[in-house]
Amino acid sequence: MRELFCNEMEFVYDERALLERLHCEDTEAEPFVRALELLEEARPYLKPAFAVREFSIDKHQSEGITVNGCFFKSKIVAKKLENEKKVFAYIATSGRKICEFAKRHDDLLDEYLLDQIAYLSYLQAMDKMSLEIENLFGIEKHIRLCPGSVIDWSVEEVKKIFVLMEGLYQDLDVNVMASGLIEPLKSTSGLFYATDEEFASCEICPRAVCESRKAPFDGDLHDEMVNL
Ligand code: SF4
Repeated sequence: MRELFCNEMEFVYDERALLERLHCEDTEAEPFVRALELLEEARPYLKPAFAVREFSIDKHQSEGITVNGCFFKSKIVAKKLENEKKVFAYIATSGRKICEFAKRHDDLLDEYLLDQIAYLSYLQAMDKMSLEIENLFGIEKHIRLCPGSVIDWSVEEVKKIFVLMEGLYQDLDVNVMASGLIEPLKSTSGLFYATDEEFASCEICPRAVCESRKAPFDGDLHDEMVNL
């Protein structure tokens, strides 16, 4: 069983990413200037991290798949993985400390700006994870499927991903709540598989307003998937 674990990443300041995240047009914008001040304070708390573990799929059914004894109930996941023998579970996080640091701020704008900085930290964990998956596993392209993002896959099933990630999630200092949400909040977990196919869960997610949308909604694909 192959694994990746990384909790010693350096957060790298990226001016363009911060400008985009804050919807600021230039570095003179007030929120951006304040974010830079907060970033200096926040640096010791920025600890992007991730972990990955490889599994064989035990069983494919039309209603879902079984991985290491855990049944994941989603027709869409079952369809996407119908020809796969291997799947990888992952968790990526901004790090707990930056989220706690953000919560300690009473000023709403400061808390929002720190939240956005935490989100950038999480994105850096995801980028590094993709790079390492390619470097160490030779997987150039993969598709991620997350409970709560795939429309017929309950967010509560994040708890089962954590069962697969036993040992690693404790080392990442993240935990899952009864609802399936992860603490700290700027974290995600799910399954991914190697493929050349182009697909993002956002394509079949009808949510009208989402800051994290990565692909436009595709109504035809949505209808095809919900009618599996
Ligand atoms: S649009 Fe937003 S909520 Fe929907 S799958 Fe994409 S990131 Fe998740």
